[in-house]
Amino acid sequence: MTTPRNQVSSRRATALIRPLVRKLHGYVPGEQPKIPGLIKLNTNENPYPPSPKVLAAIKAAADGRLRLYPNPTAQPLREKLAELHGCQAENVIVGNGSDELLALATRAFVEPASGARSASAATVQYFTPSYSLYSVLADIHGARRRAVALDADFGLPGVAELRRTGRWDFRAALSFVTTPNAPSGRGYATSQLDALCRAHRGALVLDEAYVDFAEEHALALALKYPHVLVSRTFSKAYSLCALRVGYFIGHPDLIAALDKARDSYNVNALGQVAALATLSDLAYYRGNFQRIIATREQLRRELVGLGFAVYPSQTNFLLARPPGFPASEWLEKLRARKALVRWFAAPEVKEYLRITVGAPAEARTFLRAVSAILRD
Ligand code: PMP
Repeated sequence: MTTPRNQVSSRRATALIRPLVRKLHGYVPGEQPKIPGLIKLNTNENPYPPSPKVLAAIKAAADGRLRLYPNPTAQPLREKLAELHGCQAENVIVGNGSDELLALATRAFVEPASGARSASAATVQYFTPSYSLYSVLADIHGARRRAVALDADFGLPGVAELRRTGRWDFRAALSFVTTPNAPSGRGYATSQLDALCRAHRGALVLDEAYVDFAEEHALALALKYPHVLVSRTFSKAYSLCALRVGYFIGHPDLIAALDKARDSYNVNALGQVAALATLSDLAYYRGNFQRIIATREQLRRELVGLGFAVYPSQTNFLLARPPGFPASEWLEKLRARKALVRWFAAPEVKEYLRITVGAPAEARTFLRAVSAILRD
């Protein structure tokens, strides 16, 4: 409870906060409730645990060495990632989740709007709908946001169309493209992304957080173009949300700029150990991708059968328009039946639910809850 004394000191404390931060609407992550028996399909986590080898490596590393700082650049991990992707360690930076790297890119490439040499130099650009963190990063930095609508079916507008309408700023300091898209799940052809990259002049991040569940990836573009970075994460496909490890691949000069702007020990020691062990057991994870994709397709068919309109997905989630009553009501009715999904109030997606593809048993329980709501 707030005491009167706190109220007085709160006014004094508030006066210390920059006006920009006072007005800021921070990023709202999905809920993480710990309710027994809850089917948690709201934050795109992987239903399968990390591989037994990864768990063993983490346990073996949890000893007296925790008193030591971790490798400051996550060098062994950078080297192993470089080997995996056919590039050099200088092309790789590892972050405390890919979220940290998205924020670092904003700090390293975008000028705050006050005092910027041009509007483009202070612009963070992204398609809508996509990852709602991007606009928050722009706001925190005092940059300009430029939100460009995707096509009505969440397709990527072509370069000719973007030029003709003048909607896209080809010189924006930093642009984010979520590919495959979230929250729609739609995948984009590398050829289309290549055309956008070729025409673009500012720094461009291809955020491939969900790409392991897709048909194509665009990593080659980060090695082909000096202004393109590809963002990846161990969170979703590699079941490591808790340990926070993501990375960017790109031109050594951009990577070096991000490296200057990061915290000294940004990636924790157990995260580094876990990510390295993950890369030594990729076959385990590839099996999980296939299982999740199979469950996704089954869940999609069943939801369509129950009257939902469901977009094809190349991710570990589905965007589905429920029948009968508004999506926000479905959210609450599902919650009452211990099934948690995500609903976004943004106009382009407010008629939809975003449903994480869980394990087959979770999908079955979820479908039973849906059927029960439809019968009520
Ligand atoms: N990009 C997208 C599109 C995401 O949905 C997320 C997860 N919320 C991230 C990046 C960040 O993931 P992490 O920080 O766990 O690597």
